[in-house]
Amino acid sequence: MKFTNVDDNEDYCSICLDGGEEHILCCDFCPKVFHLSCHIPPFKNGPPEGNWECNYCTKKEQIDKIISKFPEEEGLPLVETNQRHYLLACKFMMECYKIPQIPTMRWVFPCGYMETIGNGKMPYHLKYIYLRLSQADPKPFPSVITFLQAFRKMFIQAFTFYKGSPQYKNCLDHASECFEKFLSLVDQYYPEHRAEFNDVH
Ligand SMILES: [Zn+2]
Ligand SMILES: [Zn+2]
Repeated sequence: MKFTNVDDNEDYCSICLDGGEEHILCCDFCPKVFHLSCHIPPFKNGPPEGNWECNYCTKKEQIDKIISKFPEEEGLPLVETNQRHYLLACKFMMECYKIPQIPTMRWVFPCGYMETIGNGKMPYHLKYIYLRLSQADPKPFPSVITFLQAFRKMFIQAFTFYKGSPQYKNCLDHASECFEKFLSLVDQYYPEHRAEFNDVH
C-alpha cells in the first residue's frame, strides 16, 4: 500500500472523483486511487498493510473461492452472513462506477424528476445502492437478490420517468445505454439472475 503523490497514479478518487485533503490510497497494480471510505468495500480500520490490490484488480475467480461461514439469512446484512457474495457485490458495484466508461451509470438519474413527479424527493440512483452496500446506510442489503432489485428499481424509475417526458430523449438514450452495460455485467457476474431484468426496458 502506498499513499498518493506517486507520479503514475491518478490524482482523483475513482469513486467520488474528488482529490480532497484526506489520505488517498493507491493501488499497487493499477493507476486507480481511492479514499479509504470510498473504496468498495471501505476500509474502516485504517489502510491495508503491504502491497495492496484494489477491487478493480481483484479477479472474480479469487472471490469465487472464498468459503462463506453462513448461508444468507433474511434480515441480516450480507457482509456478515456471506463474505463471498458481499465481496462479489462490491466488485460488481465498482464496475458500475468505473471511469472512464461511457456511458457511466452514476448519471442514470432522472433530471427534472424532483421538480415534477418526485414532490421534491430525490430519485433512486447509483449512490443510494452504493451507500446501502458499503454500510453507511442503516439498511444494508440482506441478500444478492435485494442488491440486484435496487438496480432494477433505479432503471425502472428512470425509464418510466423519461418515457413520459419527451424533452428528456437524450437522458432516455443515455439510461438505455447504461442498462445495456448493466446487463452485460449481470451476464458476467449473476447470469442466474439475468431473466429478472427482461421486463425492465
Ligand atoms: Zn473518494
Ligand atoms: Zn487496482
